[in-house]
Amino acid sequence: MMENQGKLAFSIREEMVQSNLKGMRIVAWTLMYVSVIISLIHYGEVFFVKAERAMVPVYIAIHIAMFYIDVAVLLFIREKRIHITPVNIQKYERLVVVYIYTIMLLITAISVLDVYFFRHAALYEVILIIICTVFALPLRKIVWIILLSASAIIVSAYMSAGISSENIKIILPMSLLIPIGVMIQYQTYKVRKQIHTQHILLNEEMTKTKRLSELLAIKNNELAEQALKDSLTNLPNRRAFNQKLNKIGQQLYQTQPLTVIMIDIDCFKKFNDYYGHLQGDAAIVKVASLLEEIAGKYNAFVARWGGEEFVMISQHTHKVAEPVCEEILEEIRQLNIPHLQSTIAQQVTVSIGMCQAKIAKYEHLQTCCELADQALYLAKQNGRNNYFRKMAIFDEEANASI
Ligand code: GH3
Ligand code: MG
Ligand code: MG
Repeated sequence: MMENQGKLAFSIREEMVQSNLKGMRIVAWTLMYVSVIISLIHYGEVFFVKAERAMVPVYIAIHIAMFYIDVAVLLFIREKRIHITPVNIQKYERLVVVYIYTIMLLITAISVLDVYFFRHAALYEVILIIICTVFALPLRKIVWIILLSASAIIVSAYMSAGISSENIKIILPMSLLIPIGVMIQYQTYKVRKQIHTQHILLNEEMTKTKRLSELLAIKNNELAEQALKDSLTNLPNRRAFNQKLNKIGQQLYQTQPLTVIMIDIDCFKKFNDYYGHLQGDAAIVKVASLLEEIAGKYNAFVARWGGEEFVMISQHTHKVAEPVCEEILEEIRQLNIPHLQSTIAQQVTVSIGMCQAKIAKYEHLQTCCELADQALYLAKQNGRNNYFRKMAIFDEEANASI
């Protein structure tokens, strides 16, 4: 919590510095041109008009100094968005304050020195308002320079122009701009800080929401996957098998070969009764992973049909269907899972029912599965630990002739 608050405070501070630096760039560009233009005007006065104003070289020098300060500032903050870190943030904050103080002092110096006091005092006020509008600093940082420069200007106004009713008429309205500037600055700081805070909080919320929805999407995918998986064997479940049937059905454009193989563990009730349910589960898992391996080898799809029954379906194993059945029978025996209660062998065996067909419609798929189930029943009747094959040829009306 504390860490988050610290991070938020830093983000706000950073945004404030970034916007002040942006303002500094704008002011520096403006003042750079202004100082060139005013310097040229003063040169004009000196060389062409031959005006006799004592301090003109000093004004020129001050404007040229301002020009170089602005150039230096612009070179220093060339990038659009400066990389601010907790280490360098103070440096940039200080830079902004020092820049404002320097500019205000130079303008004050010119105003105070000039005999045409009001001309420069007006420039001072324009720049004061620009600075108060563009920058956003806490008042305690900026108020000193405003007070210092304002009082210097008022004193020099009094000294150079005196207090005549004519001058008061000009000085009084001009003096109003100083508190107005302070108020503008106070508001600018407050409002900009609020905007940045809202902006950062909004961004944070958006990132959080985005992260949550990504997490939700991942969880949804996981759930969707789980809904199609059998939890014991990790094989696709009956629902996944039905989806597979639908998919094959949708892609049926012409007559296609199809093989459905049903596999059922022999005498499994006895296995459970003798070895217990947990051992039964373990045996099912072993059989399942073996079937998965064989299915992978022949590019077939295998699922847990339910209980100790499995189903394999393939559009590619037409020619090798019988060897596949032989292989399954042999490999299961090779697993050598002891089954002393079996009436068939000393180890776990399976019986297989297979249907081979040429199908053209979704309904044919269903019929194939039913035929494979019937074939399994016949394999059981024939003594188990073997397979029985049914072939089906479908005519247009989807009747199977076996
Ligand atoms: P056969 O197939 O050879 O005719 O005999 P069977 O004893 O295997 O026949 P049946 O299909 O009637 O029995 C299946 C048994 O499989 C019933 C049930 O106790 C057991 N079974 C079903 N699902 C599970 C399971 O997830 N775990 C365990 N341990 N046993 C299961
Ligand atoms: Mg069985
Ligand atoms: Mg069964």
